[in-house]
Amino acid sequence: MTEPLPTTDLKQLSEDALSALQVLDTSDPGAVEKWRVEFLGRNGRLTTVLRGLGALPAEQRREAGAAANSLKEQLEQRLEEKRTQTLAAQAARAESLDISLPGRRMRRGRLHPSTQIIREICSAFNEMGFQTVEGPEVEWERYNFDLLNIPRDHPARDKWDTIWIEQPESRRPPDGQRILLRTHTSPMQGRVMERQQPPVRVIVPGKCYRFEATDATHEWQFHQVEGLVVDEGVTFADLKGTLYEFARRIFGANRRVRFRCDFFPFVEPGVDMSIDCFGCDGKGCRICKNSGWIEIMGAGMVHPKVLAAVGYDTARYTGFAFGMGPERIAMLRYGIEDIRHFFSNDLRFLSQF
Ligand SMILES: [Zn+2]
Repeated sequence: MTEPLPTTDLKQLSEDALSALQVLDTSDPGAVEKWRVEFLGRNGRLTTVLRGLGALPAEQRREAGAAANSLKEQLEQRLEEKRTQTLAAQAARAESLDISLPGRRMRRGRLHPSTQIIREICSAFNEMGFQTVEGPEVEWERYNFDLLNIPRDHPARDKWDTIWIEQPESRRPPDGQRILLRTHTSPMQGRVMERQQPPVRVIVPGKCYRFEATDATHEWQFHQVEGLVVDEGVTFADLKGTLYEFARRIFGANRRVRFRCDFFPFVEPGVDMSIDCFGCDGKGCRICKNSGWIEIMGAGMVHPKVLAAVGYDTARYTGFAFGMGPERIAMLRYGIEDIRHFFSNDLRFLSQF
């Protein structure tokens, strides 16, 4: 039996050790130890080779011994290199997860500016004793027009460009009532008063629709906030006092208000209410179109015919009503130029509020 040549053994050992090192996970201490024991350990393959050297002639023994020691050094060095590489890679990974950096900002959702201003308007009135009520957006013409002293074929109906809902002939009620998208929140006046006796003190926010072209100040869909007060002894002074207090709450304590005659079929007398311009304090500027005044709502004493239509005793009860566009209020307060921004869903606009 001939001894294998130690140099051949060393060559094979070197190849095996290096290819095992290539796939070795040096971050795993158990795997490193296993590799070390297999190739460099006390009973490892290198030691076995060295032990076999004793049987060789002196000349060959010296040569093979030197080669074996050199291989041992080489393998230990390669292991150290591999460890350093692993540590560097770990450090790089840790750097990309630097826990001392500030966190990424979460984008917060918020209420739509229309919703914000509607809530603000309603709470100003809630604090004055008004109750918030809401009604249907698809409405009978009875509530949208008839009960508000705007009978069919009355020319005043032209003021509201109405979107009518098609009804099949068979499903129309006997009185010929038609369905529409409400053109204002005023239909709730009739709905509320039919349900209850005075005192009535309600605020009605909601969506309205008009069949009209859109431009910077007109939308076919918009919000309105309606108010109605009916009780014994309600006078025009109550209207003025209530709306003046509202204007102060929304536009600032120093505001002055102005009432001028206006016409709405469901009030008598009717007025429009303006505040002195907060942009120029009444001197004249772009916001107020140099008039010093900004119109913010329509109002008036409830027409006796409207009270009578729901069966209220007009000798006993009087009331006032008002309506405003919250988008217009927000446009004035925040200097928004175009009402179409409110419904365009553009985050650049929405995230400003
Ligand atoms: Zn002004």
